[in-house]
Amino acid sequence: MATQDTMRAVREQIVKPRINPFEMMLHQLDLTRAHTDIPGGVWEILRRPERALEVSVPITRDDGEIEVFTGYRVQYSSARGPCKGGIRYHPGVTLDEVKALAGWMTWKCAVANVPYGGSKGGIACDPTRLSERELERMTRCYTARILPIIGTKQDIPAPDVNTNASIMNWIVDTASQLRGEAVPGIVTGKSIELGGALGRREATGRGVMFVTIGVLQRLGIDFPQARIAVQGFGNVGSVAAWLLGKQGGKVVGLSDISGGYYRPDGFDIDDVIRYVGTSPGHLLAGYNAPGMEEVTNDELLTLDVDVLIPAALEAQITSQNATNVQAKVIVEAANGPTTPEADLILAEKGTLVVPDILANAGGVVCSYFEWVQNIQCLAWEEKETNQRLGSVMQRALSEVWDLSKERQISLRLAAFVLGVERVAQASMLRGVFL
Ligand code: NAD
Repeated sequence: MATQDTMRAVREQIVKPRINPFEMMLHQLDLTRAHTDIPGGVWEILRRPERALEVSVPITRDDGEIEVFTGYRVQYSSARGPCKGGIRYHPGVTLDEVKALAGWMTWKCAVANVPYGGSKGGIACDPTRLSERELERMTRCYTARILPIIGTKQDIPAPDVNTNASIMNWIVDTASQLRGEAVPGIVTGKSIELGGALGRREATGRGVMFVTIGVLQRLGIDFPQARIAVQGFGNVGSVAAWLLGKQGGKVVGLSDISGGYYRPDGFDIDDVIRYVGTSPGHLLAGYNAPGMEEVTNDELLTLDVDVLIPAALEAQITSQNATNVQAKVIVEAANGPTTPEADLILAEKGTLVVPDILANAGGVVCSYFEWVQNIQCLAWEEKETNQRLGSVMQRALSEVWDLSKERQISLRLAAFVLGVERVAQASMLRGVFL
């Protein structure tokens, strides 16, 4: 059972100060410059978001008091198409975090070669302190306030940390009521009954699974023998662990904000998912299986495994712990989990890092499929979605892998070169307006 102490520890952990993600993203972008011949003026366009909106989000709490939150929506680039990016509810949300995530979305959509720009949104709040009705009121107010800049052809939100299909459904309803017309395509990741795509909920984790297996094959590591640790057991982490387990992989390490667990014989992920489905706060706390031991979140990151999959938040693998990471391969399911300093340490150690803008692109690829279906008013079978997702992810992995080999650069740099050059190309073809 998650006790009061566990919940307090959870809250303390989620508000601890973090590294500035926008500076991290700009640093990665600047490292890319030497490997491209993008003109200086275009480079300046790429280093800034097109638009950043800050909104106040007042709600009436269930006890009648008014509380005001701060929300953001950042559109980093629309050069390649409408902006696309999730919405995050978390106490650590800041304008700089949203700018970074919007930038990563831009490069990611270009790496996956879907016709989108990049954006992101968020509200600085602790959703574990809000009731269901308060969450709905906050979501509806935030939607109304960002509505002037979102839309099926402008900017399409989706779920991210602490947001899900229910929240997307409230956005669809609020936008449809205010616009006086049905606008299902204004978000992706909504419920199937409202036009959501079969397979979207699992898509990011499924993409992580495709990429993990594809990379291990290229490295000549026997996948079913590989030992895997996953940090974060939310939408992305739980599905990635579940699908890798289904494919025969051995997931020996798991964690979420309440703590970590290690089981050398591997976890029965179906059993863990069943437990979390009904546990207080949907946390791993209190889970038990024979031969399992508790580890801290830091220990989870440094377990003796072949593959480490960070699937929680930014800046988890840092200069403080990178030296102790034992995994041969890190597959970044989260956005920005490895700091640039940690990247250098890992490269020296020979740890292969599969970058976020490739590894977790499955979500936006499937969001693209959902949006295409909404625009055409039709629905695909789940099998078709999963097959198409597989081919897009395989193609993106091959392109990044081949570029990395050809230029003798890291996978992160190769993914950045590929993505940033595509966005620069689109910017140059469009030209500068006035
Ligand atoms: P989620 O809210 O469903 O899950 C987040 C998980 O991380 C939870 O289990 C939480 O307990 C855990 N967590 C938070 N802080 C932690 C910490 N300090 N240590 C260990 N665990 C911690 O969110 P999600 O949608 O699964 O997103 C996870 C990551 O994947 C984020 O970086 C997000 O931006 C990225 N991502 C999500 C999607 C998507 O489709 N949802 C797509 C691409 C990338």
